[in-house]
Amino acid sequence: MKSIDTYDFSGKRAIIRVDFNVPLNENFEVTDDTRIRAAIPTIKKVLAGGGSVILMSHLGRPKNGPEDKFSLRHIIPAVEKNLGVKVDFAGDCMGEEAARKAAELKPGQVLLLENLRFYAEEEGKPRGLPADATDEQKAEAKKALKESQKKFVEKLASYADVYINDAFGTAHRAHASTALIADYFPNDKMFGYVMERELKAIDSVMDNPKRPFVAIIGGSKVSSKITIIEKLMEKVDSLIIGGGMTYTFKAAQGGKVGNSLCEPEMFDTALSILAKAKDKGIEMVFAEDALCADAFSEDANTKECPSNDIPDGWEGLDIGSKAKVSFAEHIKSCKTILWNGPVGVFEMDKFATGTKAVADAIVEATANGAYSLIGGGDSVAAINKFGLADKVSYVSTGGGALLEYMEGKELPGVAAIKK
Ligand code: AMP
Repeated sequence: MKSIDTYDFSGKRAIIRVDFNVPLNENFEVTDDTRIRAAIPTIKKVLAGGGSVILMSHLGRPKNGPEDKFSLRHIIPAVEKNLGVKVDFAGDCMGEEAARKAAELKPGQVLLLENLRFYAEEEGKPRGLPADATDEQKAEAKKALKESQKKFVEKLASYADVYINDAFGTAHRAHASTALIADYFPNDKMFGYVMERELKAIDSVMDNPKRPFVAIIGGSKVSSKITIIEKLMEKVDSLIIGGGMTYTFKAAQGGKVGNSLCEPEMFDTALSILAKAKDKGIEMVFAEDALCADAFSEDANTKECPSNDIPDGWEGLDIGSKAKVSFAEHIKSCKTILWNGPVGVFEMDKFATGTKAVADAIVEATANGAYSLIGGGDSVAAINKFGLADKVSYVSTGGGALLEYMEGKELPGVAAIKK
């Protein structure tokens, strides 16, 4: 496998799949440039090595071709500001302008292509089928799209001499720009620095963790976290279960959970997780108390209850004060910490203090030498909300990609570079 650190970019045109799927405000200004900043070291490396750069990305979820609100043109100022280099733009990633501008690139120059998802070929999912389309029509549309997808990939590949994938967030998708294009660069394909760092961080936690290793799994439902919980049980010494999931476990064991989130169809699964943990000697840590509310609202009345004895009309929306202390103590006694999912409805300040206590404990453990990896959309949003992102070891940029990689699935974007 080629490495970005040793590859000779001199005189080469590198096409880089970046993740510029950034949030924009109503004036189309970038409101959070984290992903743009993340891509800068890879771009600078190519330019410093005497190469030129073609950037390609998606933005949002356009479903019917070009739409101004999803145009990557809006982000040019933010890229230029972070990169310190002028960025040219091609307003159609398949257009004559894109081909010409790519061909004319000189060392040190940067070209950004318009949103790849203005074409259905990027994702390879047929668009515009009537709601009542038959299976036959769907298969027909898919076949036609496969043909035109090949041309789409070929054209993108024709712009460059080297392919770099630096978009971890979409690495779990077998899209044109994240996976298929790699075949056109058998000897000139590699990961960018974002991808390298992500894979290294996850591998270091999953393959060779310092012990004790705790995973904190929060969020809303058991059903959405079951695969990752089962996978983690092969690796961890203990699991802290927080968030809405708590009440499915408590109810499955005969507890009273009032109006809390609860999935009766997952009772058997919850009980089998507990049995498996016992078999394997994994410590399962639950919140002994809950901060309960009489409505799912910032204005609700609140009181603390045992998390297995919540009165009717009340629901657990955060961990209680005893659990804050016991979670924090447990976290601080560990050497590897993986955190996925908030332990309460942290979006409302009233129910964010449990999640904040978890974040504070992770920060303290990290300062004392533990390795901490925060991954999955909502725990990343939480650590950012508390302004603590730079006080943990690593904050992953990938939600779905991170979970699938940890579950042991092969990510198409990773496999395409490695093969
Ligand atoms: P997930 O995407 O599964 O990680 O879920 C994240 C969501 O879980 C966040 O929006 C939280 O507000 C929500 N959540 C966390 N704890 C609870 C709870 N006790 N009851 C309901 N929702 C919760």
